[in-house]
Amino acid sequence: LTVLGLESSCDDTAAAVVRHTPGEMPDILASTVYGQTDLHAAFGGVVPEIAARAHAEKLDVSVKQAMEAAGLGFDAIDAIAVTAGPGLIGGVLSGVMCAKGLSAALGKPLIGVNHLAGHALTPRLTDQTEFPYLMLLVSGGHCQFLLAHGPEEFTRLGGTIDDAPGEAFDKTARLLGLPQPGGPSVEQAAKSGNSKRWRLPRPLLDRPGCDMSFSGLKTAILRARDEVVAAKGGLTEQDRSDLAAGFQAAVTDVLAEKTRRALQLYLAENPSTPTIAVAGGVAANLAIRSRLQEVCAEFGVAFTAPPLALCTDNAAMIAYAGMERFRAGHSDDMTLTARPRWPLDKKAPALLGSGK
Ligand code: ATP
Ligand code: FE
Repeated sequence: LTVLGLESSCDDTAAAVVRHTPGEMPDILASTVYGQTDLHAAFGGVVPEIAARAHAEKLDVSVKQAMEAAGLGFDAIDAIAVTAGPGLIGGVLSGVMCAKGLSAALGKPLIGVNHLAGHALTPRLTDQTEFPYLMLLVSGGHCQFLLAHGPEEFTRLGGTIDDAPGEAFDKTARLLGLPQPGGPSVEQAAKSGNSKRWRLPRPLLDRPGCDMSFSGLKTAILRARDEVVAAKGGLTEQDRSDLAAGFQAAVTDVLAEKTRRALQLYLAENPSTPTIAVAGGVAANLAIRSRLQEVCAEFGVAFTAPPLALCTDNAAMIAYAGMERFRAGHSDDMTLTARPRWPLDKKAPALLGSGK
């Protein structure tokens, strides 16, 4: 099967073509991503209206470029997959409208994809990871442990009760005067920092279960920064690095300890080839990746993490997740709607805050 995927749920406009023959590794024939960081830079965060307009402008171009890069005509495409949520509604709508137009004009099936399923199935795209695997989905808007049983079957074991780590990385960068997106710049600054200079909180570690909390950490960084600014009038490069390192170490500790607990729950299911996979933008963090790898080694469980460019938003994951849905016999029609909220675990209760 060859699937064209579209992604426009946040601040990246992306299109990709993925081909997969069962028994072989999936092949990403093309994957284009137009970031919007520059457009939002002056506002200190993603502005939904600006994002939606930019998606509407860039979707056509992205599709054209992806098709050219893949060296294919539309006749070679078997289906069109598009992110139908969760995300910023204007952007998701732009993508869904574009995909509907293509589907109608070309007479090809339309497949609505949950953006989070895109992230959560990426280990199957890159490593053919077998179900059931344990997924730590850790991104700009989400943080949850999921048991992945099938392409559309996920059980949520726990997750953040307030902020997502990606959001906390972005806010920390803003507090420290580092550029957006905050993840890569905080990771870079942390390399030369002393993580022990401040004692920062590791919330909920004393509580059982896999739930996490990151908003207190952000407040602690704000307080530490303000103390330094009050004492010295500003932050030195070393102060920035130390705060970044302290922040990253706290996030890493929380994720590592909660991963141990999630692994215990997962291993109780007796999977034959136990595997934990991480995905989402924060999974691009090398310090976090290597720490999680250590935890997996403790348990003798295989660890897999997609290449960095497939951790952050892209359309290859959407094309691939759409392909899995399509193979399972599912597709959509012109009634497909854009959903701002769309939990992966259908049975999970509506959750508080941005933990979703
Ligand atoms: P969601 O997928 O939850 O809807 P999103 O699509 O905005 O949210 P992603 O694109 O998956 O999120 O991830 C973006 C987030 O990942 C940003 O918050 C960014 O700061 C963070 N991030 C990217 N690279 C790194 C890194 N190296 N270290 C830590 N965080 C990172
Ligand atoms: Fe995402």
